[in-house]
Amino acid sequence: MKCFRKNAFKRKIEYILYIFGGITACLFSGCGQKEILTLESVDTAMGTIIQQRIYVSEGQDTQLADKVIEQINRLEAEELSWRIETSELAGVNAGQGKVKLSEEMTDILQTCFQVAEASKGAFDPTIGAVVRLWDIDSWAQMEDTQYYHLPQAALLENELEAAGYEKLSLDGVKEELYLPEGMYLDLGAVGKGIALDRTRELLEEQASGAVISAGGSILTFGEKPDQTPWRVGITDPENPSGSIGYLELQGQWCISTSGDYERYVEVDGVRYHHIIDPDTGYPADSGVRSVTILTKDGLLSDALSTACFVLGVEEGMELAEQFDGEALFVTVDGELKMTTGMETCFHTR
Ligand code: AMP
Ligand code: MG
Repeated sequence: MKCFRKNAFKRKIEYILYIFGGITACLFSGCGQKEILTLESVDTAMGTIIQQRIYVSEGQDTQLADKVIEQINRLEAEELSWRIETSELAGVNAGQGKVKLSEEMTDILQTCFQVAEASKGAFDPTIGAVVRLWDIDSWAQMEDTQYYHLPQAALLENELEAAGYEKLSLDGVKEELYLPEGMYLDLGAVGKGIALDRTRELLEEQASGAVISAGGSILTFGEKPDQTPWRVGITDPENPSGSIGYLELQGQWCISTSGDYERYVEVDGVRYHHIIDPDTGYPADSGVRSVTILTKDGLLSDALSTACFVLGVEEGMELAEQFDGEALFVTVDGELKMTTGMETCFHTR
């Protein structure tokens, strides 16, 4: 079997780190009478690139960019990683049966299950074992994929049988979860969104404006020194180093994109991407190449982008609107479909 993987992710990290040289600079910009400091950095955390531009006024925290990265690393190590044994999620997966959760994890899972239910399982954080069979996390690290093997259909079927959000019971008041035998949780679809929610909390009081991107998720916060709107580019799935247009936004927003170009392997000329349809165990094939969701909340936008990718345009639009989110779909035919709210802020170049 001939396998070929485009290691675009790794090349992109190397390129950006080369250009920016890690944490770059603190630049001054004038803004009326106020002096605003611009903090800029590019790092890797959570297995992705974190790019930050933060504006701080006098008296605010000039070490904020470092603190954001420290917090994201802690979030992964202590809460969300299924690999790092000491994380809460790894403990939940290892425990199986009845597990006590932290308040934070309870909140995260409650929102996840709301989206799982509303999407009828298109987004389903209980498919951890299926994700592991695909070994998605290793795709970005592999130099050579000739030894990569697609998961066996029978194994996928077995793991799918053990999965299913509706089999879980979560008592949000007692912060208890009952995880049936053989089920593993995976929060890979929402990790970056959660990271941006936590980042926003850190920015409040300490920054006047910021735009921070974590992989496919972006946070805008506050305002720029010149008060012009934030511009957030939307990646062109056909040519991921370019964009199909941009969103113009004022104030605080979270924008999450799920796309088939983000992580994938090619085996015998067929592309297998990282967004799995929980009905089949295989990469979703719903006629879309990417979905961008705009909401106020990072966890929600990240969960919805994954769900809408699996659902496709029609059902995806309905789901996004149900959560007061705006959606933009790029279809496999290169068409753009969007909610009316999205039309007001999307511009082509
Ligand atoms: P995203 O790029 O935000 O759409 O998230 C994709 C990641 O979420 C994958 O790498 C998996 O870890 C996980 N995942 C894939 N498909 C699903 C799904 N249908 N529901 C929940 N998580 C998923
Ligand atoms: Mg997502």
